Amino acid sequence: MNRVRVTVDDLRKAFESEVGRRWTAGQWVRWLGASSVHQGQTFRNVVLVRLQMPDAVWVDTKESWLRRGRSVVRGQSGIRVVTGERRTERVAGSVQGHGVGTLWDVSQTEGRPVLLPSVDAGSGVTPRSLLAALLGVAGELGYGVREQDLAPEVGGSATDTRRRRIVLDADLDLPSTTAALAHELAHLRMHKLSAGEVCQGLNELEAESVAFTVLTRFGCPMDGSSSGRLFGAAARVGRSPSPRLVQTLGGRVASTAGRLIKAAEQHLPRSGSRREVQVWEYRTSLGVNLDDPGPRM
Ligand SMILES: [Zn+2]
Repeated sequence: MNRVRVTVDDLRKAFESEVGRRWTAGQWVRWLGASSVHQGQTFRNVVLVRLQMPDAVWVDTKESWLRRGRSVVRGQSGIRVVTGERRTERVAGSVQGHGVGTLWDVSQTEGRPVLLPSVDAGSGVTPRSLLAALLGVAGELGYGVREQDLAPEVGGSATDTRRRRIVLDADLDLPSTTAALAHELAHLRMHKLSAGEVCQGLNELEAESVAFTVLTRFGCPMDGSSSGRLFGAAARVGRSPSPRLVQTLGGRVASTAGRLIKAAEQHLPRSGSRREVQVWEYRTSLGVNLDDPGPRM
């Protein structure tokens, strides 16, 4: 894709064909996982990055790599994405004012060693510390959180906007409690909640998708019951949703999850050893040494 002139329209078509061809609940979850890695990218660009370089772990512009003391290795093909999009992507499909930009994965660059942002379980965040961070985020939004027994049909958690209270089922284990709180925080940021409303349809899918993206970002995978709910909600969208709907959903989820991740990071303890672990994890998981030009993807 590098040497041929690529237009915004080509990229829009590539996105639509990829979504049209590949949509399944499982693929939706894989795109969410990629979105948790490529923070700051629009959902459409996350799909385009995955399409062009499925193993990319950290993409950025040539100029940004240069600022980190790294340059693009000769002969590499850049990853083409759409620039100038608003992160919310409310105007899905509209391409006016957009351009084509080129991103490069860290594995395509060489130079000064860099520390990988927290992308996997090596980041040292536990379900307990993430839960504490999300409790802090709820507090900032003016919401108290309490545990109590909830009827099974409520689905593990609920938000009472009148009393400004989030209720989590006391029966949930720690990972499920963390996922349920992220789910309710997503509702608070995205949806107009009315009293007694059952969590279902696209609202449920969006809230579960945000929870998954946030937990994955911090290396705290969702347990079976939470991820089963996510798969179920995604499957109920149907066998072939329009690419425009997928782009709108993905854009809203990526944007809300990004804000929640930033807010949670403010409440997480920082430690020097945590950053060391990230470099080590990165080198071993990909099998490449950042200082060694060696074999390239
Ligand atoms: Zn819900």
